Amino acid sequence: MAYDGRFPIDDAVRNFLQRRPALFIDGEWTAGTGTATIDVHDPATGAVIARVPDATAEDVDRAVRSARVAFEDGRWRHLRPADRERVLLRLADAIEAHAEELAQLETLEQGKSIHLSRMIEVGASAEWSRYAAGLATKLSGRTFDVSLPGGPQHWTTYTRREPIGVVAGIAPWNFPLMIALWKVLPALASGCSIVLKPSEVTPLTALRLAEIAAGAGVPPGVFNVITGTGATAGRALVEHPAIAKISFTGSTQTGKHIARSAVERMARTTLELGGKNPAIVLRDADVDAVVNGLLLGGFLNGGQVCAAASRVYVEAPLFDALAGGLHEAMKSMRVGPGLDPQAQVNPLVSRQHQQSVLAHLDDARRHGGELLEGAAAPDERGYYVRPTLVLNPGAPMQLLREEVFGPVLSLTRVGDAEEALRLANDSRFGLAASLWTRDLGAAMRYTPRIEAGTVWVNSHVLIDPNMPFGGLKESGQGRDFGVDWLEPYTELKSVCIHH
Ligand code: NAD
Repeated sequence: MAYDGRFPIDDAVRNFLQRRPALFIDGEWTAGTGTATIDVHDPATGAVIARVPDATAEDVDRAVRSARVAFEDGRWRHLRPADRERVLLRLADAIEAHAEELAQLETLEQGKSIHLSRMIEVGASAEWSRYAAGLATKLSGRTFDVSLPGGPQHWTTYTRREPIGVVAGIAPWNFPLMIALWKVLPALASGCSIVLKPSEVTPLTALRLAEIAAGAGVPPGVFNVITGTGATAGRALVEHPAIAKISFTGSTQTGKHIARSAVERMARTTLELGGKNPAIVLRDADVDAVVNGLLLGGFLNGGQVCAAASRVYVEAPLFDALAGGLHEAMKSMRVGPGLDPQAQVNPLVSRQHQQSVLAHLDDARRHGGELLEGAAAPDERGYYVRPTLVLNPGAPMQLLREEVFGPVLSLTRVGDAEEALRLANDSRFGLAASLWTRDLGAAMRYTPRIEAGTVWVNSHVLIDPNMPFGGLKESGQGRDFGVDWLEPYTELKSVCIHH
């Protein structure tokens, strides 16, 4: 059980794997109380590179109690906001200081391109950390007038935002480090403490992050990480009575489950869930720009992106040029391990997920779909799927309705923009969408009619810490990022003073 692939990795990564990462509770590594463990695989080879504990309910309880004690004694929330900001800025610096180690570790457990790991998992994470650090000093309430007896001169009334308590952060496997931080940062910036459960498929960078955060000055108990499956550790965490808020990113199915359980105790939730995101291409669009935009929007991280373009609706005059342009580019892509700096399409995260994407493609073939395949995979052992276009998919195909989360784009020929809008909105999801046109008037007319939390025009998938992000319909509840990012991690208290 070690990394023995053909691409070199830094000693720091090797050392971390050899240290046998366990649970991180109260500022310390602990093996946990159970005997069950979870294997972590290198998606490029299938080899087991690490083994982590499958935390028991007892372990989860310990982590939550440690977070609650830290919250109650005020070791973090009673710091001056400027001091919390300073620690989070130090965390951003520390992420950059460990950039190459974190990037390699991420590629090893998740499979993604090392370039993506450097740019997004590490580079963007540092930027998000600095953005959130700045919000720590911006929390504020309002003063307001009331019409109570005696007149307003006898009353001072205002609201304050107070940290909500212990947050359960539950993260998926597609951007393990960055999405872990999207839970940790708003929780810490607002003065909460957190117990984070990364995906059982990709637990390693979250564990290393906790250690790095401790080194940056986050006090013990304020940021704990437990590893384990959703069914045991995840469930024990969201059902724990001391959890005040659940910040969840993952599938819609799990999100619904968590929401139902949270309502029992009125635990607050932020739910960032799945998408089935349309791209609408109008006849006046710049075809080359659309090809490049959809290669990024559809195939970034092998399509394992909640906001990935998935259903493309193209006005008829542009259909052949767009399908041809995409197919040509897909044929020339290089498919290979994430640690290969030349590879553009990398293995999917797990054997199970690879099989699920292949099952969608089989289903499309069974229903008479026209599939155009891109470059082939070099190595049968890795969890590869060829990038694939499905032309004019029929209604019975699952890939039109269900999230595929792989390097698969469907292209549907439409008669006009009205048909494209109708088909784009005909989905239970509403996370993100894009519109491609050179006509500013069309862009302004159609964007309000697209049912999605984010609409890009002449672009797809690019996000920014200052741009709120979240879903409509079954894609979730609440928004991450933006100047209001911390509010869902606080409660609003009204104070009413008679004088
Ligand atoms: P998943 O729902 O299977 O798992 C997500 C997390 O939930 C994991 O940590 C898992 O262990 C945990 N979990 C599972 N069952 C649980 C339970 N009963 N109680 C508590 N925790 C439980 O999702 P995944 O397959 O890891 O990730 C892919 C999904 O995430 C896709 O649907 C994707 O669209 C979504 N996603 C959404 C966003 C967004 O911002 N909207 C971002 C990234 C990924």
